[in-house]
Amino acid sequence: MNTQLPVNDRAAWLQGPGHHCSHPPDGSRRPWHVVLLGPPGVGKGTQAKLLCEKLGTCHLSTGDIFRCAKGCDLAKASPAMTVALECMRLGELVPDATVVAIVRERRECLGCPGGILLDGFPRTASQAAALERALHEERILLDAAIHYELPTELVVERLSGRRTCVDCKAVFHIRNCPPVREKTCDHCKGRLVQREDDREDAVRTRMHAYELTTTPLLDFYKRRNMLISISAEGSPSEVFSRTLAALIPQNR
Ligand code: AMP
Repeated sequence: MNTQLPVNDRAAWLQGPGHHCSHPPDGSRRPWHVVLLGPPGVGKGTQAKLLCEKLGTCHLSTGDIFRCAKGCDLAKASPAMTVALECMRLGELVPDATVVAIVRERRECLGCPGGILLDGFPRTASQAAALERALHEERILLDAAIHYELPTELVVERLSGRRTCVDCKAVFHIRNCPPVREKTCDHCKGRLVQREDDREDAVRTRMHAYELTTTPLLDFYKRRNMLISISAEGSPSEVFSRTLAALIPQNR
């Protein structure tokens, strides 16, 4: 399988209707339709990158849409995006109906001939039901919802050991990926700090909130026989091998 496809700039997803991706897929490969689930700290971003390379899909994250919109001209934002940006400015979660409206504005991406790898959406059972309806309109059925699992103690260990450079934002880990000089970034010599939400008590609070909203979401996919649970313990390549073995049993 060709894993050297040009990286798409995802303009249609990130910037919304009227924008076109730099490398639209030609539809010559089987399109995969996959949802990624898992708490912060499980390495979902790393697995998303590896999976996109393997399956030829784009990494479609709703968080990326909002980060991208923050730097854009507010006057050009859709009504749903205006609401979303205001929620984020207030530090609130974006309401289900608003996120769904933003994803629906990108229905062309859902039906992309290259397939999709959704990350950060759906986050609730109600978003999952809305996604199912939107995909149904495009005559698409999800292949799988992959759920990365890690015991809370390991999530706490991974996140509370994380240190971020205040200048270039590079990420280190005090045990797994320590900087050469303590508290100093290897790349730009900036100061390394612990993010407020990576502190142990904050991580435990986030995990608790994650479990509350995710249990109904997992049940939604379990009932449809689409849920694949993968242990996120071990190295990224071990987790990736496990994912492929479960997603593509014959590893075609
Ligand atoms: P993420 O990068 O997935 O952590 O998303 C960053 C932020 O965007 C979140 O903290 C939420 O405020 C917002 N967001 C992203 N996706 C969703 C979603 N599916 N539902 C509600 N809020 C979301």
